[in-house]
Amino acid sequence: MDQVSARLASLSPSETLAMSQKSNELKAQGFDVINLSVGEPDFFTPDHIKQAAKKAIDDNFSFYSPVPGYMDLRKAICAKLKNENGLEYAPEQIIVSNGAKQSVCNTLLSIIGAGDEVIVPTPAWVSYFEMVKLADGKNIIIKAGIEQDFKITPEQLESVITPATKALILCSPSNPTGSVYSKEELKGLADVLAKYPKIIIIADEIYEHINYIGKHESIAQFDNIKDRVVIVNGVSKAYAMTGWRIGYIAAPLWIAKACNKLQGQYTSGASSIAQKAAVAAYTGPQQCVEEMRLAFDRRRKLVYNLAKEIPGFKVNMPDGAFYLFPEVSSLFGKSYDKWVINNSNDLAMYLLEKALVATVGGNAFGAPECLRFSYATSDENLVEAMKRIKEAISLLK
Ligand code: PMP
Ligand code: GLU
Repeated sequence: MDQVSARLASLSPSETLAMSQKSNELKAQGFDVINLSVGEPDFFTPDHIKQAAKKAIDDNFSFYSPVPGYMDLRKAICAKLKNENGLEYAPEQIIVSNGAKQSVCNTLLSIIGAGDEVIVPTPAWVSYFEMVKLADGKNIIIKAGIEQDFKITPEQLESVITPATKALILCSPSNPTGSVYSKEELKGLADVLAKYPKIIIIADEIYEHINYIGKHESIAQFDNIKDRVVIVNGVSKAYAMTGWRIGYIAAPLWIAKACNKLQGQYTSGASSIAQKAAVAAYTGPQQCVEEMRLAFDRRRKLVYNLAKEIPGFKVNMPDGAFYLFPEVSSLFGKSYDKWVINNSNDLAMYLLEKALVATVGGNAFGAPECLRFSYATSDENLVEAMKRIKEAISLLK
């Protein structure tokens, strides 16, 4: 008998990972699927980082690591925050975890209790909503459509704040939209938040280095709120290290201590070998980051130009991350053969089965009118995928 807890029963599985798994299953059956579903760099981890991991194995870094992470890694992260972002943090404020995913979840579990409200500007990454639920919190959605480049305004933010508001999760550059908040836009939000001293700002900056419009701006730069900002970041995207599972928070000391306690009871410190590799990522040559960014930028332009020619797709040029998030609602109500398209999940399934291209429907991101493509794949794959999608869409009547 299925006896999962009510907490787990209310949780949705990750749609990004589910679509990727479906695509892999079809591939294993011999279908030539192009996977634009899961968002992860297609590059290999740079060699000097791999060497550091091999050395860590030989040097016997085989014991439990300290719960909040090795001191050399936490110091390297502090140096990165100072040099790249102009932000001062002490190593005690840094907690290293198993990927930025755990960092976000640790933070929410540390600060959110039953009934606490968490503002989630939407479209948003699939896991935020479920992590808030896991913490018994209440998701408060602010919807920002394509016409406002998927970014919320200070007025929208202020309109949903209540005495129960405990946190805001802000992701810039954004998954799934690729939108990037400018310094002025962030200041507008910070000025609102400054009026409400109980609100914690979780700033997910995992796509910091995949930015096509200039220097990364962190909301932690504003002194009127800095002591309430939790920066979430990690090596997964910038250094093509998704499988190594290293993320971190840079947080007020009380939140860092809370996450340390939580982590000490349910996962312990992150992988010793991966942490040593992350030290090499942060302290070694940074040219690899720029090379990958340039490749993503080329693909961004390629895929944007192809996608905007597809009838029924309304697309914004993304400013960061590696996702394209077209608005596709004019295709709803159309059909072909056995496929009826009532929403973007239907469209994602149609594209997977008919065009053999895996994408993710917008529903899981809180935007059922949109469809997400990850363009972190080869130029050839992108050209072929867009050709197949265009053909499949032209069949819909
Ligand atoms: N935040 C966002 C917005 C992401 O897209 C991802 C990637 N899944 C993460 C956090 C988690 O990253 P990591 O692989 O380091 O856990
Ligand atoms: N960031 C990726 C995505 O959104 C990884 C998968 C996940 O963890 O959601 O596709």
